[in-house]
Amino acid sequence: MQGLRQTTITRMTLEHEPARAVKRAWRADLLDFTATPSWGSPDEAGVRLRPDHWLLVDEQGRIEGATPHEPGHDWERHDHRGRLLMPGFIDTHVHCPQLDVIASWGAGLLDWLETYTFPAELRHADPAVARAGAERFLDALLAHGTTAAVVFPTVHKASAEALFEGAAARGMRLITGKVLMDRHAPDGLRDDVPGARAECEELIGRWHGRGRAAFAATVRFAVTSTPEQLAMAGELGRRHAGLYMQTHVAESREEVRRVAELHPEARSYLDVYRRAGLLHERAVLAHGIWLDAQDRSLLHDTGAHIAHSPTSNLFLGSGLFDWSAARAAGHGVSIATDVGGGTSLSMPRTLAEAYKVQALQGERLTAFYALHAATAGAARALRLEHEIGSLERGRLADVVIWDWAAGPVAEHRDAVARGALAGTTPQALHARLFAWMQLADERNVVQSLVAGHTRHRRAKGA
Ligand SMILES: [Zn+2]
Repeated sequence: MQGLRQTTITRMTLEHEPARAVKRAWRADLLDFTATPSWGSPDEAGVRLRPDHWLLVDEQGRIEGATPHEPGHDWERHDHRGRLLMPGFIDTHVHCPQLDVIASWGAGLLDWLETYTFPAELRHADPAVARAGAERFLDALLAHGTTAAVVFPTVHKASAEALFEGAAARGMRLITGKVLMDRHAPDGLRDDVPGARAECEELIGRWHGRGRAAFAATVRFAVTSTPEQLAMAGELGRRHAGLYMQTHVAESREEVRRVAELHPEARSYLDVYRRAGLLHERAVLAHGIWLDAQDRSLLHDTGAHIAHSPTSNLFLGSGLFDWSAARAAGHGVSIATDVGGGTSLSMPRTLAEAYKVQALQGERLTAFYALHAATAGAARALRLEHEIGSLERGRLADVVIWDWAAGPVAEHRDAVARGALAGTTPQALHARLFAWMQLADERNVVQSLVAGHTRHRRAKGA
């Protein structure tokens, strides 16, 4: 009895102590991007592959460098030779409570919100439900190889709190804020301007800039916020340095028509947000399918960017995102799963769908361009390139180790691609990576690290 008690006390003490400070080294094929790759052509621009290298991570969880030589005994060494190591993916638009309704049948955007999303979000008014939901969601992100995210909780303050707390416990970079909606939503999911302002200020005071957390003024969309609430969200951004803004824009044609009816004063859907002062360099707008050239210039001029959500756009039948037009306008584009309109938290699956969305418009998205958008490109769009998105010295070691293949079909395909790699040309590397991007999912994730600490490890025998 005495011994058991002793053990329990020791374990509790350990849990509250900072993790043992050690230097760690990870051996694998290291891949990241030093610049934006070429569009439409799999050449080597911006691509950095360091095959069979050791990634060195210091005691603070920061990347110290990479070397082809095995480091000395003062390093804790983790040998994953033959596997792929990349910066953790950054999911720039995803809804925590919608894990409850992922893969629900039969509705376009506005119906889908009424039928599935709002009832699910109502349940998160209960702090216990919100807490359990946040834990499940954050663990699922890590199990899918995503180490940082911009997240929608619900209108309830407790649901934002639960996400901030869960991410802090895991050391994750997380951007969120309570959802603002003061009209056209059912009872129990509406707030009002003074109440919402007070709750946002409270959350900002407690979480914004604490550890790796940042607050986002979280406007659901122009349908569910009054002009007064949109203006209040804009003021929050002006009052607090480094505040983000997240919302939806121009997702479906029906939604665009609705916004035009509700906001006749605005030139376009995006213009509603401009008028409220919501477009700035930390503004993340999901979808952006039904935009025109003037909207795209506005995104460019304000530094706001689009979180492209291909599985969601296809699943809800919303439309095809015109990435070429975005490129021509020069505004940022990151990649998002938008679960539960989206059908998977897996970024490789999402990128595979992004390829198809472009293919339907006569464009050929390369694996280099796509993977950059989901790592270094997203970090830059979020103004977090000093912290995440690459394997550059000084970045936090938010990295994921992947199997090149999972299952007999992918293994065969990868063996064929490896056989063709004789010259290790960029085209041969691209052929292998592209097959990986099309075929990989969460089964390929071996281990996810957040600031050098293992936060997900695949179960043995899986
Ligand atoms: Zn969404």
